[in-house]
Amino acid sequence: MADIIDGKAIAADVTAKVKIVADSLLEKTGIQTGLAVVIVGEDPASQVYVANKGRTAKACGFHSVEHKLPEDTSEQALVDIVESLNNDPAIHGILVQLPLPKHIDAGRIIQTIAPEKDVDGFHFINVGKLGTGEIDTAFVPCTPAGSMLLIERVLGKDLSGKTAVVVGRSNIVGKPMFNLLLAANATVTIAHSRTRDLEALCKTADILIAAVGRPQMIKGDWVKPGAVLIDVGINRIDAPEKGEGKTRLVGDADFDSCQAVASAITPVPGGVGPMTIAMLMANAVTSAYRSAGEEAPS
Ligand code: NDP
Repeated sequence: MADIIDGKAIAADVTAKVKIVADSLLEKTGIQTGLAVVIVGEDPASQVYVANKGRTAKACGFHSVEHKLPEDTSEQALVDIVESLNNDPAIHGILVQLPLPKHIDAGRIIQTIAPEKDVDGFHFINVGKLGTGEIDTAFVPCTPAGSMLLIERVLGKDLSGKTAVVVGRSNIVGKPMFNLLLAANATVTIAHSRTRDLEALCKTADILIAAVGRPQMIKGDWVKPGAVLIDVGINRIDAPEKGEGKTRLVGDADFDSCQAVASAITPVPGGVGPMTIAMLMANAVTSAYRSAGEEAPS
């Protein structure tokens, strides 16, 4: 039976450390880490994420700002807000919650965020730095960064000799995950919807990352015995066993069958999910250190 990787506890460790380094920067330089979160529209899941981010930012001792904008906000109005945050010295990190309403070009908004405040790591400059191995000066997207920290807790920092398979090639999860694993010396394959015989490929992986967005797709007999399985997926499915109309969260891997084969596995919820917010806080405080000309704590 695989060990369960307790993302909630590891995320709590990360945020506790963020608070210590944020407090120390404030004491030393008078600079309070500032994080601005911008949300457009009423998407209920996004509202929950934004509320959690604001709460965690305050718990870390940050100056936390939320811009809640109506669904019909124009693209230009959003650009103007991002630009004003770019120019605000009290703000070190800017996050625009995705998805944005359809009438707004999310790509334009992301590229408007100053790269040095792009704590989501989606700006081309940060994507390029990650892709070329300039990780120390980049901002790395929070979900893959958090996933790497979980892998590190199990296998250490150097993944030399390990094979890794990332299922999913999104810009937010799959591709940055690929680059991080590569930078840690793993031999990495990235798979997607056009990959042939995905099951056999997954079975070659010492480290298997499920980032597909398909509930419980990866089964135990796809997993190499002893593999480390990181399940990034968050899917809400019906749970009639809990009562009529009830739902529950599941990952992209079938937890029970995978747990029987893997050596370590992340649960959903309580695995990668909490790490995403923790890494956002870590990126924000890193940005504050950089802006102060101080060495950012690792
Ligand atoms: P996307 O929908 O952007 O990407 C999904 C990827 O999976 C695509 O590359 C797609 O391939 C691939 N894929 C889809 N179906 C199959 C299939 N049958 N076989 C092989 N590959 C397939 O999703 P995200 O990357 O944004 O998210 C992935 C998962 O992670 C979701 O469950 C999401 O909810 C979760 N997530 C969790 C976060 C967290 O904080 N824990 C944060 C972000 C996401 P193709 O490119 O060919 O279409």
